Amino acid sequence: MNDKIIDISVKVTSSLVKWPDSFGFATEPMLEIAGEIEANVTKIEMDVHFGTHVDAPLHFLAEGDDMSTMPLRKLVGKCYVMDCGEASVISAEVVQHLPKNAQKILFKTKNSQLWEDPSHVFKEDFVGIDALGAAMLAKMNLDLVGVDYLSIQGYKEHNDTHRNLLEANVVLLEGIDLREVDKGWYDLYCLPIKLQHIEAAPCRAILIKK
Ligand SMILES: [Zn+2]
Repeated sequence: MNDKIIDISVKVTSSLVKWPDSFGFATEPMLEIAGEIEANVTKIEMDVHFGTHVDAPLHFLAEGDDMSTMPLRKLVGKCYVMDCGEASVISAEVVQHLPKNAQKILFKTKNSQLWEDPSHVFKEDFVGIDALGAAMLAKMNLDLVGVDYLSIQGYKEHNDTHRNLLEANVVLLEGIDLREVDKGWYDLYCLPIKLQHIEAAPCRAILIKK
């Protein structure tokens, strides 16, 4: 197999940048190999929106799908990566340049450069999707939208960005690192943990260029 696998997930460590006021991530050894103890067993505690993760409709919709009922076909398959260049917001103007046949879309923005230092201080003015851009995306019959920072909506943006997309049953992939990815078509594989009655889950996400 000569296809190149690009890992677009960020490494999960307790020093990884997190959303302000998020619990983040912590580990605690339950067992550690030493003397009579033959295995390592670790407990983790984390905000399910930490690092590379998927949001389900339940994040903003009380009756929405959770991580265990979300259809897997929305998470795997042909995917378009759009390069947003130096744009400071993913607006309707940006969105209208997407290929019409795209059903899974990842937006590469200048945010990706922030992953050069995964422990950087949270950047409030990261590039996100505005409410009008999200409203336009919500009409495109999409499976999934992904962004290269911790939320699809800008820090001070209205929650309509999340709501517009989740009401249209669009899966949200957040916290991906697209530094190594050029614009174009890929196969996406993104599999979040099957958490019942939970609105989000960490995942490993990869792209394969054909
Ligand atoms: Zn989230």
